Amino acid sequence: MNGKRRPALESLSGARVLTQLSREIETCTLCPELRSYCAEVALTKRRSYIDDVYWGKPVAGFGDPAARIWILGLAPAAHGANRTGRMFTGDRSGDFLYAGLHRAGLANQPTSVARGDGLALRDVWISASLRCAPPANKPTAPQLGRCARHLDAEWDALTNVRVLFCLGAIAWDAALALLARRGHSIPRPRPKFAHGAEAVVGARTLVASYHVSQQNTFTGRLTPAMLDLAIERAIERAAGVGRR
Ligand code: SF4
Repeated sequence: MNGKRRPALESLSGARVLTQLSREIETCTLCPELRSYCAEVALTKRRSYIDDVYWGKPVAGFGDPAARIWILGLAPAAHGANRTGRMFTGDRSGDFLYAGLHRAGLANQPTSVARGDGLALRDVWISASLRCAPPANKPTAPQLGRCARHLDAEWDALTNVRVLFCLGAIAWDAALALLARRGHSIPRPRPKFAHGAEAVVGARTLVASYHVSQQNTFTGRLTPAMLDLAIERAIERAAGVGRR
């Protein structure tokens, strides 16, 4: 990835664009410091995963190319998606999120252990504001700015998306910035992140949830019932029910 959009992408569509985009993301080197960090984590490993071969690269989105709901997270976890190569896969955050998606009928199984584990999503695409695991889960503004090009490319490919389901404030801000870059007027005052917040921007609705991080789920800040309600609202908005 050299930072330029490939003209060839524009002649492709839907699933083919997303497949090609996955390859571009996985080879992106725009943030050398993050690529080094991910590679180092992949070498040093966590003791409990010492026998695993870590992914150690940027993590592309995955799910249903015809999705109406686009779930945006923060970034791959160092020993989660940076290990397994799939978003929210192989860690407690993923356990929490996919259990909720399964309860809502949007995932065919409640667990997400590894690529190739049979997980399939219906009407949902999952990606993140940043595609490389950042140290301490804290991306910098320049890193988010560089990685936004991958959101733009996904936006162009995910033509059915009606709802951006934002896990956490960083994803909420990234979604608003994405919509602004794609020519949409952002309401004023600018919608603020809060669990359960919604914002209508053009024909799309943002729905917010606290992030499914262990910090939130272990402390009870985000409960399964709260996640279920937020997912239910995202499904309703995607179907055109309620505020619009
Ligand atoms: S964070 Fe995004 S822009 Fe930076 S190297 Fe990773 S994929 Fe590329």
